[in-house]
Amino acid sequence: MIGTSTKRKKYEGLNVSNHRHCIICGSVVPPERDPPVCEGLCEEELAKRQKRSRMFNIVWLIMIFGLIALLMYSFFSVPMSP
Ligand SMILES: [Zn+2]
Repeated sequence: MIGTSTKRKKYEGLNVSNHRHCIICGSVVPPERDPPVCEGLCEEELAKRQKRSRMFNIVWLIMIFGLIALLMYSFFSVPMSP
């Protein structure tokens, strides 16, 4: 009984429409912040992550192209039986 009542009180206290959560650490940030991260460390972390994900995408693209090239090569270089 005590558990449910405290939970309800917590939800009433939050104004859901008037804040956003930092996508790095999850703390509350003003809604006008875009992207929703807190200043300083989290901003840096986000930049780092974006840079990393961009690198990761490039690596993936190269791998997929390499795989396609390999498949094409093996497909067209099938030894023809006389
Ligand atoms: Zn944060």
